[in-house]
Amino acid sequence: MPVVTCSKCGTPLMIGERVKWCAHGHIYYKDLPTLRPLFYDAHEFVEIFERLSEQLGAGLDGFIAEGSRRTYRHFARSLINMTLDRNSSYLHSEKFLELFCDHAKIWGLASPQTSHYHRGESLRLELENIACIPLICGKFQGSLEALEGQPFVYEWEGDCENGVLELLAHMGEADELGEEITPGDIYKQPHEEYREIQRCPECCVPKHIARINWDLDEGSIYDLVTGRRIIMINTMTIDLILDLLAEEMGEHVYMRLAQLEREHAREIFTAFPHLRKSPTESSAMLAAFGMGLLTIEEGDGIELRLKSPFNPHLAAGRILGYYESVRGEELAAETRVDEKGDLIIRIF
Ligand SMILES: [Zn+2]
Repeated sequence: MPVVTCSKCGTPLMIGERVKWCAHGHIYYKDLPTLRPLFYDAHEFVEIFERLSEQLGAGLDGFIAEGSRRTYRHFARSLINMTLDRNSSYLHSEKFLELFCDHAKIWGLASPQTSHYHRGESLRLELENIACIPLICGKFQGSLEALEGQPFVYEWEGDCENGVLELLAHMGEADELGEEITPGDIYKQPHEEYREIQRCPECCVPKHIARINWDLDEGSIYDLVTGRRIIMINTMTIDLILDLLAEEMGEHVYMRLAQLEREHAREIFTAFPHLRKSPTESSAMLAAFGMGLLTIEEGDGIELRLKSPFNPHLAAGRILGYYESVRGEELAAETRVDEKGDLIIRIF
């Protein structure tokens, strides 16, 4: 079904209508407050896990797919229940599959098309222009499990951007679905509107989002200023991928990922000086992208504070990498999360 976009900035209208930007730099869906999306550099997301995989000498796609599968199963189930509540008439499974495909395009993850569906048995999707293969495979696996209430396994065949995803019903034990996730306390954070930001006059998204180009046929989002591909991802998926990795590989993966994110952020912000020219502007961009609200206090030392960090480990790396690009040098720093959940980085 065609996705309607804003005539002024091209953002899908449902983003402006259903997503709320908050004063603490986080974003959430009005009718699904546990869903906290953020706008992430697609290449960065893929690359930090590739670099970690090289360090550990182990493939990590299974962790990304499993984190994606469990969280999207949770959100797909919520979407299905909400839609059924609003519509007295029965909605066909095919309609939900269409919604899942539209969602993948709007979030810039890929352009999927259903090529074959046998309810209770199998689903075959042709996917083009994929940002991250295990992320999209897990997303459809979990969404289909929510729709059909039974486990599925997936088979993937293709190159790094295009291919065919086959989901097959799996008659295993009940625990094949994996542990169910429970939403964290994202919804407990203050939800007052983020007012100190310019917005598109028509669809009301912040100007940093309005400058993003959505190609809904291709299922891709590009930042027109940097030319880089962006994906929308939710914080719960990121948290779960990291936790699954730490459980299996050890807690040192948190620190390794923070360091990889730090190096990547430093490279990007160094390559695009205008992104860091004004601290106020950089902070507004991070908040518009849903990463948290950054303040920098320079007094007796330097303290970077990020309210509502999207993930404490990756946010620490990103903020430190950003600040190092501003200063033009690597810095010694100490990171902690305070009782309010704010991320605090002290620079020495
Ligand atoms: Zn607009």
